[in-house]
Amino acid sequence: MDKRFLQEALKEEPGIMSFAYPHARSWEPINPKIIEERWRNSAGDAILYIHSPYCFSKCGYCGFYSVPLSSDSRTAQDQTVRSILKEAKRYADYFKGKIKAVDIGGGTPNALAPAAFALLTDVIELFKLDNTCESSVELYPVSDIDDYLEICEYTRINRVSIGIQDFNDEVLRVCTRKHTTSDALNAYDLTRRRFGNINLDLMLGLPRQTLKSWEKTIDILLELHPENATINPFSCRHKGISLYKARQNGELPSLPQMIEMWDLARQKLSNAGYTQTSRSNFFRTKPNAYEALIADSAPRIALGPKAVGLVSDITYMNEQLDQGYNRSVRKRNLPIFSGLILDEEEQMHSWIVYKLLSMKIPRAEFQQKFGRDIVNEFSELVYMLNEEGLITTTDDEIVLTPRGVYYTSLLQRCFFSEPVKAMKAGVRK
Ligand code: SF4
Repeated sequence: MDKRFLQEALKEEPGIMSFAYPHARSWEPINPKIIEERWRNSAGDAILYIHSPYCFSKCGYCGFYSVPLSSDSRTAQDQTVRSILKEAKRYADYFKGKIKAVDIGGGTPNALAPAAFALLTDVIELFKLDNTCESSVELYPVSDIDDYLEICEYTRINRVSIGIQDFNDEVLRVCTRKHTTSDALNAYDLTRRRFGNINLDLMLGLPRQTLKSWEKTIDILLELHPENATINPFSCRHKGISLYKARQNGELPSLPQMIEMWDLARQKLSNAGYTQTSRSNFFRTKPNAYEALIADSAPRIALGPKAVGLVSDITYMNEQLDQGYNRSVRKRNLPIFSGLILDEEEQMHSWIVYKLLSMKIPRAEFQQKFGRDIVNEFSELVYMLNEEGLITTTDDEIVLTPRGVYYTSLLQRCFFSEPVKAMKAGVRK
């Protein structure tokens, strides 16, 4: 990446952060047996991601894989959950007591009927989690949330993440969210009665948000005093997102306004005693273990349609529902759609891309893993990022500046290998 390109990129919104390297578009069909073999030989700790694909409706800002409830019958949804349970059984024996963090996400897990949701939570029981394991579930703040919280209370789930997005009804309405501020406050209250570790998810850069309305939203969050807060800047890079047109028409907060909102949130959270661990995550009691393990390139078991996994040198993705996910599980196959075996060079790039999520790269750790000094290895890039005020370099670490943290996803792209940047199938197998 040359200097001019970087300067142009800094004029655009940074985009969503990479939790898979390289981008799935460059992956190819892969024999599931190779992946099963890797898992069998991977005796260490791992994290577990369970993807329930159903949502009440499509949010205006969502670019993720999700399936509206109305497109599948309850019977079909039950079938999907049973497939996830079956898929889990393929892994559970190898990883009993070895799972360090769980995230049950999606989609919207509580879009399922309570019985199917209960079956989904049974998946984690198969892994015999110990008391140190952080097990988180993402819930949508709908009026019957307590039925789901009650189910969670009797499982190993010990952290609840509620998708709030904003405490402003007008913002929620134009984003086609199916809840109001009052639902969100009620959901928080009910969750607090049962759980001591709560995360609230907010999003900035949405239509109708102003700096003033955003400040009010942050103040409400601080009054609620959750243990964790996630602040995601909205990213609208492709036409498939329904707010794409609004972005093109200038109806959404501009990039400088978004950065101002993010700075305001950061400052307020910091003043209230929260510590920032990544571009989006803040904690006041203990950091989000799942996120920290992702940044450490921990092996990631992926269950459910289109879930993305990582094992040793392979990154891979499951089939979607319409690609035969349930059929593959029925045939006793791992339902894997595509993946990539990374050579040593690509593993190095992958390690950096994940590590950047934690806002710094320890030089000694890189040296120990790859036998080189990262500053020498990427001297031109490091010089350029320093010059642009995105990083600082010490003898021990490369540290992202606040501006660099906001642009984490751009920094990740800067450290992609040349073949990956060019989106060539140049990754060797
Ligand atoms: S609830 Fe989440 S996954 Fe579902 S449509 Fe909204 S943003 Fe997308």
